[in-house]
Amino acid sequence: MKRAVVAGAGGFIGHHLVGYLKAQGYWVRGVDLKEPEYEPTTADEFELRDLREYEHCLWATEGIDEVYQLAADMGGIGYITGNHAEVARNNVLINAHMLEAAYRNGVGRHFYSSSACIYPMYRQLDPDVTPLKEDDAYPAEPEEGYGWEKLYAEKLCQYYTEEGRLETRVARFHNIYGPLGTYEGGREKAPAAISRKVALAHDGDEIEIWGDGQQTRSFTYVDDCVEGIHRLMLSDHAMPLNLGTDRLITVDGLVDLVSDVAGKQLVKVHDTSKPQGVRGRNSDNTRLREVLGWEPQVSLEDGMKTTYDWIASELTRAGRVPAGIES
Ligand code: NAD
Repeated sequence: MKRAVVAGAGGFIGHHLVGYLKAQGYWVRGVDLKEPEYEPTTADEFELRDLREYEHCLWATEGIDEVYQLAADMGGIGYITGNHAEVARNNVLINAHMLEAAYRNGVGRHFYSSSACIYPMYRQLDPDVTPLKEDDAYPAEPEEGYGWEKLYAEKLCQYYTEEGRLETRVARFHNIYGPLGTYEGGREKAPAAISRKVALAHDGDEIEIWGDGQQTRSFTYVDDCVEGIHRLMLSDHAMPLNLGTDRLITVDGLVDLVSDVAGKQLVKVHDTSKPQGVRGRNSDNTRLREVLGWEPQVSLEDGMKTTYDWIASELTRAGRVPAGIES
């Protein structure tokens, strides 16, 4: 039986990944600062530890065949643009210590969760953006704070692999969404924030959208993400690989899609004083298809329906949906 540790197992993707690895027959250790928020973990062992500390990383990686490093200080665009120093410092400590601990403990493979935020700003100025290929990362001009740290951690993985210390695998996630993710409080991302706003609105109400709504993104359902992580881990591809879909949609388009799912007609009010990130971002999946012979399968309609239904039911359960609103 293979033994894996999921760092960040109390978080959104990490929690789903624990379930996926368990279903594949792994023995799984979960580590995080917090327990999963919405349901208990299925990990065989779960401990609350601060992975900025090297000794906790040594503990986490002991007796382990595969490390899945998803622990990070992160959140929605408002959070990561407002906390550059804190986010970069926390994440560089986690990543540097996890890599060294995995190496010292003789771990077989180390997966690192990078992000589309590493791509240069100058390639993302147009909503009708050219999909981003892996080689487009340089010359570098990533997102401040969070993006620079991710790019540097990719490099650290490369150095550990090149010097024969540790086999690493790196995926650049593109906007992962799905049930059991944060949907309020400031760390939530657009799909969850939009689902919450739509669920709490009466038919015909106004809802607030950050930016002018014409910024574009592609979105990836979490089941596809965890399958992609595992497929990449089993592959022999050591360089960073996009893990996303290549279906581009505007934020307004996403709001319309969620409104359709909810059966509501809503009036979009744009707040252009709020951060909206890059103008356009899409994944070029050419290399993903070549390397894995696979790409994400779940349509945005199906994935957003599952996500919306889950957020609406959570809000209803918490007594948060005002009277007269059907979700
Ligand atoms: P998340 O915030 O839900 O999960 C991250 C987890 O890391 C949290 O549970 C948090 O408590 C934990 N963590 C933070 N600091 C820690 C510390 N010092 N010690 C131990 N645990 C700590 O985020 P997520 O969406 O599940 O993202 C997982 C990974 O994927 C992160 O590395 C993130 O940067 C990356 N990523 C996510 C997306 C996305 O769209 N969700 C996109 C690109 C990259």
